[in-house]
Amino acid sequence: MTIDLDGLALPGPTITAVTAPFWQAAALGKLIIQRCGDCRSYVFYPRALCPRCWSSRLGWVEASGRGTLKSYSRIHKPGHPAWEPAAPYIVGLVELEESPTMLSFIHAAENIAIGDCLELSPTRFGGRTLPAFRKTTD
Ligand SMILES: [Zn+2]
Repeated sequence: MTIDLDGLALPGPTITAVTAPFWQAAALGKLIIQRCGDCRSYVFYPRALCPRCWSSRLGWVEASGRGTLKSYSRIHKPGHPAWEPAAPYIVGLVELEESPTMLSFIHAAENIAIGDCLELSPTRFGGRTLPAFRKTTD
């Protein structure tokens, strides 16, 4: 059964001045993350200060969209009732190629496993395009 993820009545993100570039890029199907202008660390989630060196010189770069599944959970009882039509679905921790880890929706068949190679799969959820991932096909 295919779920109409775009038709879900989901609450929207809380967009701040710090996170706005991330959401604007997501709407275009891109995944951007921050990179520190001083220590060169990649940073995700979006912040005002580098968590490694406290620099405020954080810029934005487009991520490769490649990552590895670090952990996942098959959600049967969503934390928000708007997700119930989609359950069960997979939420996973994706270790991006650039090194930060992000929590994301994973388009998954039954055979998902920790260590799987993943690729960005921008997806319409509740009327907005957001980053999601799927197993790498090549
Ligand atoms: Zn830094």
